[in-house]
Amino acid sequence: MAEINVKRLFKNKLRRLSNDWTVRTEDQKICCPVCGEELKEDHLDGVEYVKTKRQTEIFIHTECVGKWGKC
Ligand SMILES: [Zn+2]
Repeated sequence: MAEINVKRLFKNKLRRLSNDWTVRTEDQKICCPVCGEELKEDHLDGVEYVKTKRQTEIFIHTECVGKWGKC
């Protein structure tokens, strides 16, 4: 499995969000979908990148992955 550069992908996604004027400023951030905590570029240890079947890019805490989708 190829190593995924989470930080690079995170920056790319954040840049896309901030360049998209249809996205409200308060939504131009990336949160963990399980615990809802905002993820920061300089705190990406323990954060994983997941691409869903619907091609949605998600950044999620490693510890939250196990809880994801079980709600
Ligand atoms: Zn989380």
